[in-house]
Amino acid sequence: MIIITQPAVTDAQIDHIVARIEEFGLRPQVMRGETRVVIGVIGPDDLIRGKPIAAIPGVESVVPVMKPYKLVSQENGSLPPPVSIGGVKIGSGQRVVLISGPCSVESKQQLLSIANSVKNAGARVLRGGAFKPRTSPYSFQGLGEDGLRFLAEARAETGLPIITEIMDTRDLPVIEKYADCLQIGARNMQNFALLKEVGRSRLPVLLKRGLSATINDLLMSAEYVLSEGNPNVLLCERGIRTFETMTRNTLDLNAVPILKAKTRLPVVVDPTHGIGLRDYVPQMALAAVAAGADALMIEVHNEPERARSDGEQALRPEIFTDLVRRIRAVAEAVGREL
Ligand code: PEP
Ligand code: MN
Repeated sequence: MIIITQPAVTDAQIDHIVARIEEFGLRPQVMRGETRVVIGVIGPDDLIRGKPIAAIPGVESVVPVMKPYKLVSQENGSLPPPVSIGGVKIGSGQRVVLISGPCSVESKQQLLSIANSVKNAGARVLRGGAFKPRTSPYSFQGLGEDGLRFLAEARAETGLPIITEIMDTRDLPVIEKYADCLQIGARNMQNFALLKEVGRSRLPVLLKRGLSATINDLLMSAEYVLSEGNPNVLLCERGIRTFETMTRNTLDLNAVPILKAKTRLPVVVDPTHGIGLRDYVPQMALAAVAAGADALMIEVHNEPERARSDGEQALRPEIFTDLVRRIRAVAEAVGREL
């Protein structure tokens, strides 16, 4: 950490800053410039973290040297291990993985139909919500454990591993019985109790970016999961709230290269929630691959006009099939493969 002092700092204030740093068990190194004094703070990161140094009189600003998300950070050294969802590896560098399925599991027949379609099209992981975070308490809330059972049946029939959302710490045991990957939805990205709980799970966690969360917020939330011992986290950009009302959200593709540079975790893009309008999902899916996404999560429904959630943004299976062909072409153009 580096401390920059105020221009009018007095010698007494500098002595006081130095004394405080030593009191914290850290080593100060004072460098006197023409107008300012800069003080380097040397010591273990754990001792430096959280100290109220900016509150000491005469301090103008404090510049951390280490990133606050130390486990998630690229600075952590070793190359990122790909995260495995039921044997499907995401983040291996070369391969783009497609995760697809309905927003909500609605019936066994609906799920099996969609699961078979997306599998035949080239998806390698099946998604489907059994516990749904709905804006209105009167909207369909998901089938709960029945939905999880249908997901497990779809896995048995297609061989696709399954990912489903967890909203409540109390549901972890039942979801762990069926799922291959836990999804933390945008609305729960900063539910720290839930993050800690899934941090103790053996299952990988797909963490969606919050509606108004910065990239740094997302990384700090991922740090919660890793700090509890679960290293298998996937970061998902799914659009953020902006002033724009023409689309449901604004898909922040800026986040993709930034996350790839700053972290060792695989990056997933959800163009479906990102734009929220089925006609434009394919374009954003292609752009996400070009931007460097390790995986895409795309909602597909066999009868979007009958969907119990997010029908307006779901692709019909035949549109998804056509999109996969184009995703493959873009992937190859940027040196990747499907
Ligand atoms: C979903 O994946 O269906 C969902 C609810 O996503 P988000 O949390 O990104 O809104
Ligand atoms: Mn949805």
